[in-house]
Amino acid sequence: MPELSHFIHGEHVSGTSGRSREVFNPVRGEVTSHVPLASLDEVSAAVDSAQRAFPEWSAINPQRRGRILLKWVDLIAQHRDELAEMLSNEHGKTFEDAKGDIQRGVEVVEFGAGAPHLLKGEFSHSVATGMDVHSLRQPLGVVGGITPFNFPAMIPLWKAGTALAAGNTFVLKPSERDPSVPLRLAELALEAGMPPGTLNVVNGDKEAVDALIEDPRVKAVGFVGSTPIAQAIYSAAAAAGKRAQCFGGAKNHMVIMPDADLDQAADALIGAGYGSAGERCMAISVAVPVGEATAQALREKLEQRIAKLRVGPSLDPTSDFGPVVGADAKERIENYIGIGAQEGAELVVDGRGAQVEGYPNGYWVGATLFDHVTPQMRIYKEEIFGPVLCIVRAADYEEALRLPTEHEFGNGVAIFTRDGDTARDFTSRVEVGMVGVNVPIPVPIAYYTFGGWKASGFGDLNQHGTEGLKFYTKTKTVSTRWPSGLKEGASFIMPEGS
Ligand code: NAD
Repeated sequence: MPELSHFIHGEHVSGTSGRSREVFNPVRGEVTSHVPLASLDEVSAAVDSAQRAFPEWSAINPQRRGRILLKWVDLIAQHRDELAEMLSNEHGKTFEDAKGDIQRGVEVVEFGAGAPHLLKGEFSHSVATGMDVHSLRQPLGVVGGITPFNFPAMIPLWKAGTALAAGNTFVLKPSERDPSVPLRLAELALEAGMPPGTLNVVNGDKEAVDALIEDPRVKAVGFVGSTPIAQAIYSAAAAAGKRAQCFGGAKNHMVIMPDADLDQAADALIGAGYGSAGERCMAISVAVPVGEATAQALREKLEQRIAKLRVGPSLDPTSDFGPVVGADAKERIENYIGIGAQEGAELVVDGRGAQVEGYPNGYWVGATLFDHVTPQMRIYKEEIFGPVLCIVRAADYEEALRLPTEHEFGNGVAIFTRDGDTARDFTSRVEVGMVGVNVPIPVPIAYYTFGGWKASGFGDLNQHGTEGLKFYTKTKTVSTRWPSGLKEGASFIMPEGS
């Protein structure tokens, strides 16, 4: 059974804590490797390495750092299929979807190659007699990233790409469920020319995360994962005097207005609700049709499409989505389906007990559809994080707007309509961080910024884009006066000597 490692100072390092956990292939439900769970000392060694790498990496001028980032992008592209297969095998998402996971991460690294421009400060001439002021952005030093299982390439690349572009060195603690892709990305970073220690990977669980937060040499932590942990890490990081941006769970709504193209809306809902088995923080889990006629027509279209959906092996190109990540995830999702039925929602399509021929132990959950869900139900209030779509029928636009606005989570939301005025009103009034108009999964492109509101995000600066650069840099403001200079005392006479 392969034993995975940490990646510290440019080398694979075996775990020494004596603790490890199994990594599964969710299609087969089989253990494929063991991942070490780092102790405090192992995390400390990774931070030490990043601390030693910082002077060299931060002193490289940003344009040259950018070239190294672009070389990293090239290497990731060269190895894209290998990485995507590795990703599918540990996560369970389809091969094509895994390529998207990698691509959306790479785009942020490409954006980071623009660091020379992004790190420019401000300058004001003559703020007082003979005095100028300028500001500069400097890297923080060693920074840490703690990432979830559901985007094992994209989110580590979002965090590390931005932090490294700004001149920081980085310690990544990826999800222990699918650690192979992050380890491979760190190898490729070294090959691209990053000095050893610039990007370290320590595998682990709460113990490693606590060690990162408590280490005074780590100046900032970026977290993505579930809300209770995001909130706990945000508080602990603040108490330890470091900056933190912590992104949590979601319950993303899609409002379907009576004037929407219902075929387009149904197609969008199927992709956004069931793609990646619903294990996306921007997945749509609540459909809000406005008016009974819209609800009825939409439900019929969804049922027709769900009947054709195929859950299957991740590497089979005919699969629409793969298994969920683990036996515990399958149990949790199936539990929620039971709860929804008990709560009185109408279980239109039940994905429990799904089977795929040839893979009896895979973590399969079929596409599930509930109708007549109400805001009081647990299946509406809580994040299920699986292929479960809930229809909440709204009588009118105002009720539809209130649902995502008043929900505890505020990550993403979408509205489908042909009316510009409705869309404009919705985008300005809804209390959610990322909004799509006829776009079901409005993940902002690399040069914008990603972040949810309310219980979906803690901290004031978002991930990637210029906000990401701000998060990973500190501003220094310099006031300069040169009271006297050579020009006053300059001599125009040839000195005669003593
Ligand atoms: P998770 O919270 O279980 O784990 C996330 C990370 O935290 C992992 O690296 C894990 O090892 C670590 N961790 C787990 N328990 C911990 C603890 N007690 N103390 C400290 N660290 C701990 O999340 P997950 O299951 O890997 O990912 C799914 C969740 O992530 C969903 O809630 C999803 O909505 C969310 N997510 C949010 C975003 C976003 O940008 N808002 C993006 C992707 C995923």
